[in-house]
Amino acid sequence: MKNKKDLLQKLRLECEQCKNCELCFTRNNVVFADGNPQSASIILIGEAPGENEDLQGIPFIGRAGKLLNEFLSQAEISREDDLYIINTVKCRPPKNRVPLDKEKDSCRDFLLSQVEIINPKVILLCGATALKSFIKTKIPISKIRGDIFEIEIKDKKYSAIPIFHPSYLLRNHSVEPNSPRDLMLKDLKKAKEMIN
Ligand code: SF4
Repeated sequence: MKNKKDLLQKLRLECEQCKNCELCFTRNNVVFADGNPQSASIILIGEAPGENEDLQGIPFIGRAGKLLNEFLSQAEISREDDLYIINTVKCRPPKNRVPLDKEKDSCRDFLLSQVEIINPKVILLCGATALKSFIKTKIPISKIRGDIFEIEIKDKKYSAIPIFHPSYLLRNHSVEPNSPRDLMLKDLKKAKEMIN
């Protein structure tokens, strides 16, 4: 049985050569993942690579990524050891538009296989696109963030928590009780408790 690292390396090579949707024509890099597959027990699923991510091939490294790092640190979650970060699509949509359903569908096998290989204790659905990729609901993320859902991926059940996307928090600076930033920290602390 191959270990996680070998399985992910094989998947990464497939992903880097992928031309399954039109995003392959405009990408600079496929943004596969960031994190330590051997130690990560939380998967964070975001939306799609932005400009910086596309240029460097690493998810969540722009302004939103830096803000995410601050929240992770406050919740005592190690980005390097506890977390494996991926996106619903691996290539940047032009002008950072929301990925189309057909693009998400084309990329879904990579996403599901990443989850299957990492086999996390908790999945963080970061933002509305990740939420809607796994939970069929019209309820806005602001109403269900922090709730624990059971989702099934490749015949295995996982605990998933919707959380705000850090891009949203960049526009909401308040840290008052029950502000989006305050709730984000609470949700991350909940995830941390679930892996302890
Ligand atoms: S977004 Fe996904 S499906 Fe589309 S080209 Fe990139 S890796 Fe392939």
